[in-house]
Amino acid sequence: MSKNKPIFVTSPLLPPLEEFQTYLKEIWESKWLTNNGQFHQQLEKELCDYLGVKHVCLFSNGTLALITALQALGITGEVITTPFSFVATTHSLWWNNIKPVFVDIDPYTFNLDPTKVEAAITPKTTAIMPVHVYGTPCNLKAFEQIAETYNLKLIYDAAHAFGVEINGNSILNFGDLSILSFHATKVFNTFEGGAIICQDEKMKRHIDDLKNFGFRGETTVVAAGINAKMNEMQAAFGILQLKYIEEAREKRKKIAKTYRQTLKSTEGITCLNDFPDIKHAYSYFPVLIEQEKYGMSRDQLYEKLKENNIYSRRYFYPLISNFPTYKGLSSAKKDNLPNANNIAKHVLCLPIYPSLEIEDVYRISDIILESKFK
Ligand SMILES: *Cc1c(COP(=O)(O)O)cnc(C)c1O
Repeated sequence: MSKNKPIFVTSPLLPPLEEFQTYLKEIWESKWLTNNGQFHQQLEKELCDYLGVKHVCLFSNGTLALITALQALGITGEVITTPFSFVATTHSLWWNNIKPVFVDIDPYTFNLDPTKVEAAITPKTTAIMPVHVYGTPCNLKAFEQIAETYNLKLIYDAAHAFGVEINGNSILNFGDLSILSFHATKVFNTFEGGAIICQDEKMKRHIDDLKNFGFRGETTVVAAGINAKMNEMQAAFGILQLKYIEEAREKRKKIAKTYRQTLKSTEGITCLNDFPDIKHAYSYFPVLIEQEKYGMSRDQLYEKLKENNIYSRRYFYPLISNFPTYKGLSSAKKDNLPNANNIAKHVLCLPIYPSLEIEDVYRISDIILESKFK
């Protein structure tokens, strides 16, 4: 622990290099670099087992998985979604010529508020795309009910929700499709990568066609597909990473617990609800800062941490609905999204990653405590 060592909001989980080299040697020997190779098949199978899901379709990244998921379900017209997410959620709609319709979030989970969804449904609405923000499960039952009542498709952006379970059941088993991201900054990474989780064999086949130019067999093209395949190097890295994922989750859990303990009595600093009964991914550690009670604004604390070489992040600020591409939409108006705008202004994500030392967690907490009304 040194005061000058920079601490970023995250740091990737990297297995021992020597172990990866043995996989690379195999790839060199087989000369099979991509196109549903042995490691690709093995990772799909191992992820099905680990996550407790029926079908996994691997992708080169999470954004292409989102874009392809919308294609696979033939989504058009309007889709109801949250503005409080990473920008790729809405971009995936835009790239499919779909109009995003923003609905506000609920202030307890920061997820899309199902009680506000019905009012936004129009004859053009074809789907709902909620996000399990920070890995906190959405209100699965409520969304299922709305989707059924209005005959809408339900696509979850589960990029933060790797391994999240409620009562032993993966939340990826809900909705028509769920999308994972394996980007370097995520809990489980393959440098870049992603996946679609689907519920039946036929859909898996369709998605597998779509991510490989629409090819089925050597000469048949069944759809206007894209190239979004995960390669063998990524897949091999994923297999190796999976061996260390539980250990990494335990370390994240300990860090989250330490933050909660050290920050719990600081007025003006609120941690996200803990939600018992859930197996968390601990992908992020968001706190809300209330200037009136704490003395500093979120942005001032962000700068203060930076002065100490600690690089927290204001996820998710700015709100997607406030970016130039989307702010002209009628649903993007600030008075339509009061909770999302409020949270985006007050939230700060503190560093959390498996190799972050507990002394450093104390040091970060100390700076936050010492900065109160300075
Ligand atoms: C990371 C992320 C994505 C995009 O995933 P990539 O693999 O980086 O393309 C999509 N949605 C959310 C919520 C994300 O956090």
